[in-house]
Amino acid sequence: MRLRDIYKGNSGKPKISFEVFPPKGGEEQYPALYAELNSLKKYKPELVSLTWGAGGNNNNSMELVKTLHCDLDLNIMAHFTCICNSRENVENHIRDIESLGVKNILALRGDEPKDLTVCHRDFRYANELVSFIKDRTDLSVGVAGYPEGHIEASDLKTDIENLKRKVDCGGEAVFTQLFFDNDKFFSFVEKVGACGINVPVIAGIMPIISEKQVERMTSMAKISIPSRLKSQIEKFSENSDDMKKLGIDYASEQCQKLIESEVAGLHFYTLNKSYSTSKILDNIAATV
Ligand code: FAD
Repeated sequence: MRLRDIYKGNSGKPKISFEVFPPKGGEEQYPALYAELNSLKKYKPELVSLTWGAGGNNNNSMELVKTLHCDLDLNIMAHFTCICNSRENVENHIRDIESLGVKNILALRGDEPKDLTVCHRDFRYANELVSFIKDRTDLSVGVAGYPEGHIEASDLKTDIENLKRKVDCGGEAVFTQLFFDNDKFFSFVEKVGACGINVPVIAGIMPIISEKQVERMTSMAKISIPSRLKSQIEKFSENSDDMKKLGIDYASEQCQKLIESEVAGLHFYTLNKSYSTSKILDNIAATV
């Protein structure tokens, strides 16, 4: 099913989606990923998104897309980055994705490498990739949004204007960076609407499992940690059951408030594990 059909209308219930990445250990670890995804199937995800690059392992990634789509029968959104990619490569890739029967793609620029002189500059920003895909395929295109602004953007207003370029070029849904402060998300959604963007904004939720994980995420992106959460994280040791429980409880509460505000979708950054995401979905079962 395409993004525009998944998020069409307002059923009063958020659509559930999961994000996974190609395992770093390669094909040997695929069965473990399939097992985690199979156990998440009971929550009837509308979409499973598979990252591209960004710390994963893209070798045989197309095979992985094929297995998730054909054998596990999941509705896939394949992420794809255009930075340092040639028009020819991008064209081949999007046609390959479409020929597998996949309907959705998340069009991203990707992070700029330190030395830009060594790579192709056929695409400078994600809006160019969105146009390129829409001109050549019938894929439904999602785009990335940043409730607290993208790390390179001078301010949130400018970043939202740039987000509008992606939507004007054919972006059908905005998937947000993970956030821990719902007020930042609510304010973002309001500003996005005021800017004339009228596609669904899907909330990115990541259950905390360790302090290091939070530090890594917040060092790479603008993601604020409410002081109440920060002091709770500091109380528990790395990867402990208490830390996992905190992550589950906090994200459950976050989701509950997002549901009350009639969020269109909840997109879980699963980190290839089903445990915390399952617990959160069990906690909010009455409302989804
Ligand atoms: P863009 O939309 O191009 O924005 C990049 C910066 O340029 C922003 O500061 C923006 O304000 C500015 N800008 C945009 N357009 C213009 C313009 N026309 N003129 C001037 N300035 C402009 N990375 C991966 O490598 N693989 C993944 O699978 C992946 N998945 C992600 C999933 C989600 C939901 C999110 C939120 C991010 C993901 N990322 C992934 C990270 C992403 O690649 C980086 O954040 C990257 O730095 C920006 O990508 P973008 O598509 O948002 O870029």
